[in-house]
Amino acid sequence: MKQAKVRLYVEQGLGEGQTIPLTKEQAHYLFGVMRMAVGDPVLVFNGRDGEWRCAVTVANKRNGELVCEAQTKPLQMPPDLWLCFAPIKKARTDFIVEKAAEMGAARIVPVSTDFTNSERIRQDRLQAHAVEAAEQCGGTYVPEVSDLVKLDRLLAEWPEGRQLMFCDEAEVGSAKRLAASTGGPWAILIGPEGGFSDAERARLKALPFAHVVSLGPRILRADTAAVAAMTLWQQSLGDWQ
Ligand code: SAH
Repeated sequence: MKQAKVRLYVEQGLGEGQTIPLTKEQAHYLFGVMRMAVGDPVLVFNGRDGEWRCAVTVANKRNGELVCEAQTKPLQMPPDLWLCFAPIKKARTDFIVEKAAEMGAARIVPVSTDFTNSERIRQDRLQAHAVEAAEQCGGTYVPEVSDLVKLDRLLAEWPEGRQLMFCDEAEVGSAKRLAASTGGPWAILIGPEGGFSDAERARLKALPFAHVVSLGPRILRADTAAVAAMTLWQQSLGDWQ
């Protein structure tokens, strides 16, 4: 059997015999860029029905169609981890979203804090980055990227039972580690380039569900800190165990 060289995210439901009409962009990618033809296999997932092996049934420049043949992977949900982070410069924010999807975050939450430099994000563009990362890394789930939310509001509406790994640069070099004891839903919080304000730090530290954590003896850039924190969490509480 020919090996599929493309993995594609689609919106439609997937099941045996299901046909999938392709968008103009997907048809261009499959038939214009990847030079695929009728009969070629494609791996497809939609974030709900696992991964399916499909075959190309219509291959035109501007449109096309696939048919689902067999499931190749069941849906694999990541652990219930949110990555909350203050958006930084565009390319670094894109990096954080891409890495969060690869590292197995269930939800990605851009947060506006006192020292956040970018007050606007393009949610649709960031969501597209998460989709692309899932296509690349073999994931069957795509984390939702939320709209920008103010830290105050996020904390005011905090769901009961969710723990918070508060990565605080003021703890640089301290012995505050993530204790691998509390399971269940979690979130990681990473601050902006300017760090957290004193008021934010005081508020965060007083929260009963917050766990203050140091990420070692050096100050990391926010994008590095996000990957480091997710590594630690996945290793001690997530699906790397
Ligand atoms: N400008 C700030 C640093 C901000 S680093 C200063 O010089 O103090 C950006 C974010 O990464 C921080 O808000 C924090 O969430 C995280 N971070 C970076 N290094 C860290 C460390 N050693 N321990 C805990 N969190 C860290």
